[in-house]
Amino acid sequence: MTKAILSDIPRQNPCAQCGAPIPQPDWIEPGEGCVRYLWTCHACNYRFEAVAIYDEVAVEHPPLAA
Ligand SMILES: [Zn+2]
Repeated sequence: MTKAILSDIPRQNPCAQCGAPIPQPDWIEPGEGCVRYLWTCHACNYRFEAVAIYDEVAVEHPPLAA
């Protein structure tokens, strides 16, 4: 699962403020059904987060025994 996420890193994401393309995210934080990418623009120093949502079925939590 981690490999799939790492091979699917978005690149050349335009800066949310000035539009300059950012080669790759500074930080990647995998979550359940989604991955958070932290981008830092080197042109204007703007930092923003983008979240990629995956269609994978969320892990089901078994009901607690009564
Ligand atoms: Zn920028």
